[in-house]
Amino acid sequence: MSNNKFKILVVEDEANICSFVETLLVTNGYQVLTARTQAMGQSLFLSHTPDLVILDLGLPDGDGLEFIRAVRARSAAPVIVLSARTTEQDKVAALDLGANDYITKPFGTAELTARVRAALRSHHQATGAQPDGKFVAGGLTIDYASRKVLIDNQEIKLTQTEYNIVALLAEHSGRVMTYTSIVQAIWGETDPGSTKKLQVNIANIRKKFGSRPGDNPYILNELGVGYRMIEEDLARK
Ligand code: CA
Repeated sequence: MSNNKFKILVVEDEANICSFVETLLVTNGYQVLTARTQAMGQSLFLSHTPDLVILDLGLPDGDGLEFIRAVRARSAAPVIVLSARTTEQDKVAALDLGANDYITKPFGTAELTARVRAALRSHHQATGAQPDGKFVAGGLTIDYASRKVLIDNQEIKLTQTEYNIVALLAEHSGRVMTYTSIVQAIWGETDPGSTKKLQVNIANIRKKFGSRPGDNPYILNELGVGYRMIEEDLARK
């Protein structure tokens, strides 16, 4: 699919980063609008209705959170937060307000384009399911109809809960999901203690997947924030 129908608004006050991101996106076929302040960003958002927003959290006239609120009040367009901040709380606050994902500076070109692609894909597709009802990423295959999970064509026996977690992360592949949003979707709870239950399930899933400590090829850790399933293999589309 050509990218050129997608319009992306980049709100970033650092000139170097702004032009780096702009060049990268234009090279990848996107239309790009840039703003250096939150106020300018909000005005461009209203006048140009972009398909996606890349938003720096440290702007001269605000921390970007107000901008996320304003965007969410009128649009479901994906927002990817760009942040030099390292504390998990800032990322979680942005995600809780409705941001779809985040990238921590410094970041690479592959990381940025992958995040943009994943955010646009999940926004324009109801689920991550392929037309043939399968999710494939590297050696991992999920067959949604039969609820089977395979690694390198070997079936992995998961509990119902483990399967539900894997399928949920796959539906959001390439995007971070916070502990809270996973716990809510799986158990319908908001109890912070449930995060422990989730971590135990993830550890069991990884063991069954044959992952070794420090090497999780399918479900990535977003420390203090949540988990991210690797991107679906796009070549199959
Ligand atoms: Ca900044």
